[in-house]
Amino acid sequence: MIELANHIGGRARPAASGAVLDDVGPATGAVVATIPDSDAADVDDAVQAARAAFEGPWGGASASERADLCDAIADAIEADLDRFAELESMDTGKPIHTARTIDIPRAVANFRFFAGAVRHDHTGAHAMADAINYTVRKPLGVVGLITPWNLPLYLLSWKTAPALATGNTVVAKPSEMTPLTASALADVVRDVGGPAGVFNVVHGLGAKAGAPLVAHRDVAAVSFTGGTATGAHVAAAAAGTFKKLSLELGGKNATVVFGDADLDAAAKGAARAAFTNTGQICLCGSRLLIERSVYDAFVERFVSAVEAMPQGDPRHPDTRISALISAAHRDKVASYVALAREEGGTIRLGGGVPSLPGELKDGFYLEPTVVEGLAPTCRTATEEIFGPVVTLHPFDTEEEALAIANGTRYGLSASVWTSDLRRAHRFSASLKVGMVWVNTWLKRDLRVPFGGTKDSGVGREGGSYSLAFYTEDQNVCIQL
Ligand code: NDP
Repeated sequence: MIELANHIGGRARPAASGAVLDDVGPATGAVVATIPDSDAADVDDAVQAARAAFEGPWGGASASERADLCDAIADAIEADLDRFAELESMDTGKPIHTARTIDIPRAVANFRFFAGAVRHDHTGAHAMADAINYTVRKPLGVVGLITPWNLPLYLLSWKTAPALATGNTVVAKPSEMTPLTASALADVVRDVGGPAGVFNVVHGLGAKAGAPLVAHRDVAAVSFTGGTATGAHVAAAAAGTFKKLSLELGGKNATVVFGDADLDAAAKGAARAAFTNTGQICLCGSRLLIERSVYDAFVERFVSAVEAMPQGDPRHPDTRISALISAAHRDKVASYVALAREEGGTIRLGGGVPSLPGELKDGFYLEPTVVEGLAPTCRTATEEIFGPVVTLHPFDTEEEALAIANGTRYGLSASVWTSDLRRAHRFSASLKVGMVWVNTWLKRDLRVPFGGTKDSGVGREGGSYSLAFYTEDQNVCIQL
């Protein structure tokens, strides 16, 4: 059993109240760790430690010193990749293969990328006839980072790397369901010589520890990734203190397969889009729109591609689909399968709890589920389920596909499969989403803007967008 502490000012500390929470491993339902059940007092301690660190030598560190710290963090995580992957898999229930090939390598890449980004960053100068303007980019101070359980270190590093690289100090509040790699990251920052207080972690519940971080007067910015309803709370709580806010929220993304697509590639891509991380990625393609002329041919290939993704013990290297994050979340996803039946859907694949041996019996599993025959406007087809459930919808025309794809409150991403280049451009331009992939899914270049429209969020992260978010530009005008 792991006993985690908060990381405040370079020291491991329990919650001031002494209270703890259990951290349950989804693979078996067993408690794997305890974490501090922190509250506003712990958050305030962490913010004061972060503030003191910002006012110390770190506030004057050069870009190359900050980049060196990020590179050292990347090297240390990479050197310990297997342990990080095991912690992440144990905490989330995700396949060890996913943690080893996606989550942890991406955390390494995030730190390396933003180290390079600040080394190569530049700001403007604007000459006038009798004056010169130059612009300097300043860190904000203390930033609050609030992250969800589905991609814990992947998303925490996506925020921490640019925040530190641009000279801020951090107070992180990870999901209480997945605290392990945030603490491991704090250990790494300390071990590679990160100054005390530069990176702090406060564990605990959203309402008790997240909310005071958002409302804190000395926190200059909050970057939040999580559900849309929570994002609305965060936005309201932050408004009174005029802090900068980045909100990456939910999604209900369409995968659109046209008749002229390479159906084999599209079927594999759509299966990956629907079920990677057991369907628990905001970018998952959970609504699959298929041109009617190829519906049967495509669905046969798609179902085979899903069946080729083995479900079971996340610790087994061949497993591709495993447990959901919690019993409550598994029940919520299962309730959508029941709703799909009520709404007139037919279960083409899955729909039940898989029978798994031994200790896995008490884990939080649900079969990868494919539903046909639903109206594209029904609740199952338009609400975020965030699990291994995909709905299939035939369409006859491009206009109809567009109307279905755009017919939700979300606007995060879409994946379009076609061999017609003109259609790819035309259709992409008409999609009301922040990100479109054509003939692929989740292909990421860390320089590009990441974020959603409508209820999927506010703002963009990535490359220069992250550098801008974690800094304030100051212009100096000098009379010549
Ligand atoms: P939640 O919104 O429940 O939680 C996200 C984080 O916010 C957690 O750390 C949570 O703490 C914390 N939190 C909860 N309430 C508050 C509050 N009042 N004030 C401050 N912080 C709070 O999301 P989930 O963890 O359930 O993650 C799943 C959601 O994340 C999905 O909707 C998914 O679409 C979205 N997501 C979006 C992504 C994007 O980039 N757009 C990427 C990944 C996920 P605690 O867990 O302790 O309650």
